[in-house]
Amino acid sequence: MPKPNALLDLPSFPADRYAVLADRLQALLATRSDIVFAQAEAILALEATATSLGQPGMVAVNIVTSPYGGYFGDWLARAGATVHEVRAEAGRPITVAAVTAALAGLPKVDLVAMVHAETSSGILNPLAPVAAAVRDRGALFVVDAVASAGGHPLDIDGLGIDICVVGPQKALGGPTALSALAISPRAWAAMAPPKAPSILSLTDIKANWLDAGRGALPGMPSPLEFWALDAALDRVEAETLPAIIARHDRAARASRAALVAMGVTPWITDAAEASTLATAAPVPAGVDPAALIAAAKESGVTLTPGFGEVRDRLVRLDHAGARAAFAPVLANVMAYGQALRRLGHPADLGAAAEAIAKAYA
Ligand SMILES: *Cc1c(COP(=O)(O)O)cnc(C)c1O
Repeated sequence: MPKPNALLDLPSFPADRYAVLADRLQALLATRSDIVFAQAEAILALEATATSLGQPGMVAVNIVTSPYGGYFGDWLARAGATVHEVRAEAGRPITVAAVTAALAGLPKVDLVAMVHAETSSGILNPLAPVAAAVRDRGALFVVDAVASAGGHPLDIDGLGIDICVVGPQKALGGPTALSALAISPRAWAAMAPPKAPSILSLTDIKANWLDAGRGALPGMPSPLEFWALDAALDRVEAETLPAIIARHDRAARASRAALVAMGVTPWITDAAEASTLATAAPVPAGVDPAALIAAAKESGVTLTPGFGEVRDRLVRLDHAGARAAFAPVLANVMAYGQALRRLGHPADLGAAAEAIAKAYA
């Protein structure tokens, strides 16, 4: 007999608990939309959304504020849609004016897609006014809320979001290798069935699971990941979503106040345009971002470069999930300031620490 191993020879995830996970997530997100799972990280759920909705004849407006938004447009185009891109300045949120101008310039718009909060640059897009503009045009609205769910208020039904993609692994502190989608009846109706069975087909998930009464597992979901989601939801429900959002808000406020106290202007100056998941801090002119990150590493803290166009211009202070707490926030800011000093730039660490203490008082 081989030695027993806790990771091997696992029973399937119980089929009846699988539907319960969807119900719990639906209650958490306070939506009437159907919840389905993608048995992979969120990037697959996003690709499945574009692949399932995109079709020849469709006109889409794709709002791009990070590489994730860019991929989404590529997938829509691959599915046959005509894609009009509205691109923000690098590392900045989109402006409502840019969106309304793009919508006004098109005789027909079937779909608009946007990322809510970006971990790549620490920005927050203006979700409510964009949603209102999309509703005015009667278009489908797809939102990548992978990062924002648990970090920012998100009213899926109130805003008329037709497909909302969420990931448990950012603010919600859950596992990385599965994701969820909230799908409205209008979005289901707009999907064309695939020509062949496909892991990217949301209509396959609907047919094989939702329409089949949700009693049997769809395919062979990884039991480890779904048990981890079960545990993550236990923790989220115990803390409550509003408390989790407030914890992220405080981590962001503390980080931003500390940067200012240190003598540094945060990458995003207006708090209303900043994500609560990560705070972007500038890389001073003439400083190699890799050297800044290496210098912070000497304090035992991992800062990450911006993702995409802003790679050389900012570093991210990650305070998502369990990191939205006093100790990681303090460590991030001290390591960043210490790294600035190591590279010959001033940073008032005492004032920064004082600002964090005040935010957590
Ligand atoms: C992290 C992230 C993704 C990708 O999620 P994965 O689970 O890593 O595939 C997509 N969009 C946004 C906005 C993200 O922050």
